[in-house]
Amino acid sequence: MLISDNGLVCGEVCVDPHKKPSQEKVLFTHAHSDHVKLHKDKIFFATPQTNELIKTRYASKIKDKIFNDISFNKKQKFDNFSLELAENGHILGSSQVKIVADKDYVITSDFRLKDSLIFKGAKPIKSDVLVLETTFGSPEYSFPSNEEILPEMISWIEKNAKSGLVLLSGYSLGKAQELTAIANAAGFTPLVHDSIYELNNVYKKFGVKVGKYEKLNHNLKDFNVLIMPPQLVDRHLFSTIEHFDKRRVASAVATGWPYKGYFDKIFPLSNHADYNDLIAYAQASDPKLILTDHGFCEEFARKLNRLGFNAKPLKQHKQRRIGEY
Ligand SMILES: [Zn+2]
Ligand SMILES: [Zn+2]
Repeated sequence: MLISDNGLVCGEVCVDPHKKPSQEKVLFTHAHSDHVKLHKDKIFFATPQTNELIKTRYASKIKDKIFNDISFNKKQKFDNFSLELAENGHILGSSQVKIVADKDYVITSDFRLKDSLIFKGAKPIKSDVLVLETTFGSPEYSFPSNEEILPEMISWIEKNAKSGLVLLSGYSLGKAQELTAIANAAGFTPLVHDSIYELNNVYKKFGVKVGKYEKLNHNLKDFNVLIMPPQLVDRHLFSTIEHFDKRRVASAVATGWPYKGYFDKIFPLSNHADYNDLIAYAQASDPKLILTDHGFCEEFARKLNRLGFNAKPLKQHKQRRIGEY
């Protein structure tokens, strides 16, 4: 396996490349936009769920492109290696990648170790070399379990939806579907923005229990909970709704980042692993080498080394073989 300036490469396959790779095949670990670049003349591989999400999100860009399905837990052979995708708790279809070549490599990609309301957390995979996603690899990031966060969210929604409108905000792919399920758990059918509605439909198609939801379409007055992507929410939206709808708006954002902005409430609901989850994954995977990727990769590699692992940050390296680390 190679680390290139364009991501991880194994034989003819490049994983989640940032720019057009020289390899002819591309593997997408999941459908978030920072991982999906639909370059010309490439052959794409992903889980059927991820392929469906990509086709839904990028409908105008998928013409003439070839998408191949690799189902979870089924070995896929390539020229000099094989790979297997396993669920990793992040979003629908998201996968950790196990590559069997000269060694066993595992790429976690964005993952969550804790269960959510709609997905089981990732099961760590044994490896020789682990590429660990360390977005929240700093001790201040500690996310609550379902048992802690869900009752709090549900009672906040119940209380505020009785006396006004609850506006929940979270990324349209991943977080919004969890919020849909949580609103249902609180006893409300939420109204959701268009972009969320389409993605909810894909989740439902693959059997994920997101609950009921309706599309936002001049029907706000009939509902008590509205779910919107964060980029469409600002203070003006709250005052506009309060003015025309004559209801108080209680707003909350679900995010792992310590950001509140103009929301009344922030729920630390993240679909990533927190600091302790990252350590737990490393211990269970028990690799000889860990390459930390994203976020706090340097700080977290130092922490792993203090714990007795051999760890290095993946960033700022040009093309080199894993053996050179
Ligand atoms: Zn992601
Ligand atoms: Zn990502």
